[in-house]
Amino acid sequence: MGSTAEVKVNRKAAGRIANGHPWIFSSDVVDRGKAAAGDAVRVVDQSGRLLGTAHYSAASQITLRLLSREAVAFDRAFLMERLRRAAAYRAAVVAENECYRLVYSEADLLPGLIVDRYGDYLAVQLLNQGMDAGAGMIVECLTELCAPKGIVARNDVEVRTREALPRETRVLVGEIPVEVSMRMNGLAWHVDLMGGQKTGIFLDQRENYQAAARWARGRGLDCFTCTGGFALHMASRCDSVEAVDSSGAALGIAAKNAASNGIGNVHWMEANAFDLLAGHDAAGRKFQTIVLDPPAFAKSRTAVDGAMRGYKEINLRALRLLERDGVLVSCSCSHHVSEAALFEVIAAAALDAGRTLRVVERRTQALDHPVLLTVAETHYLKCLIFQVV
Ligand code: SAH
Repeated sequence: MGSTAEVKVNRKAAGRIANGHPWIFSSDVVDRGKAAAGDAVRVVDQSGRLLGTAHYSAASQITLRLLSREAVAFDRAFLMERLRRAAAYRAAVVAENECYRLVYSEADLLPGLIVDRYGDYLAVQLLNQGMDAGAGMIVECLTELCAPKGIVARNDVEVRTREALPRETRVLVGEIPVEVSMRMNGLAWHVDLMGGQKTGIFLDQRENYQAAARWARGRGLDCFTCTGGFALHMASRCDSVEAVDSSGAALGIAAKNAASNGIGNVHWMEANAFDLLAGHDAAGRKFQTIVLDPPAFAKSRTAVDGAMRGYKEINLRALRLLERDGVLVSCSCSHHVSEAALFEVIAAAALDAGRTLRVVERRTQALDHPVLLTVAETHYLKCLIFQVV
């Protein structure tokens, strides 16, 4: 990790760095020198001028991820300082929540490192060879910073394959209970740290749950509910909420969450949301509040066209079910689908459904998942709230 290997990059790469983006692609690397997988290397331009220090990947198309614009060592002191800064920012934005994202990769100037805090436990993701090589040191620093009872590596994600790293879930420190219970937004949540989606639950929607609850009323429908995030927040405002997901395991936890919070007006349904919406439409069912929070339909740029058809379909169907004054909360977590593109597709759906929509809120991921201005990839979640006028 403390290697002083030097990697030479072309002018295009130097330009990217100058414009504030930390990634350098393989095609822009001129000379890899003696760099080995996971090294922190000196990055220089073709005239040998220092551009910064980056983690080197021997496998990914993203060969370099900048850690600093200076010559630094990726050591304990460096990491500790970055982690402390990440923690200080969270202290200002997460209020009394027990679970939140402590480190968000590029947005905390630690590309490839995700750390989610769930009370006494931490879930980490080491998403490139540099962070993977630094696992031991990362664990030491997190232990010093948070004194957790357990740390689990949720390295079971697809991007690790591109880094030639194994996909696995592994307990790194202490013990991880089968399920932990914690408080978020004043409600109790059961979290499956070893097997739940993402690192357990969807922390990025935390503030959007509260926004949806402020608008919710009447009969509610939460499509793609997973462990019940939106549905359980809406329950106190709605007469009843129907909550749908295709994952029986997620719904099992959702039902437990409802019970722990004494919520009895949410009806959990295991179904394909597309079919369910179509069925409700055919049956003439009506709702006052509908949430759509589908999985990332566009995982890559090439999947965008198909994704847009998916967004159009669910939004069109949802809009046909909404009564006048009804509220639609429509989300997309695909980075490749911009807010403008989502607006466009919902506008087309509204036109087809014969509905006129007022935009009442334009939201994004919770503040503990900050967006770095010059790194567009850090902005992925859109949560748009509309009212049928
Ligand atoms: N709203 C949730 C997160 C949703 S993630 C929350 O705040 O916690 C997307 C969810 O969609 C996953 O739980 C997944 O199981 C579910 N899903 C994927 N395809 C589906 C489909 N066709 N019909 C219903 N649910 C689906």
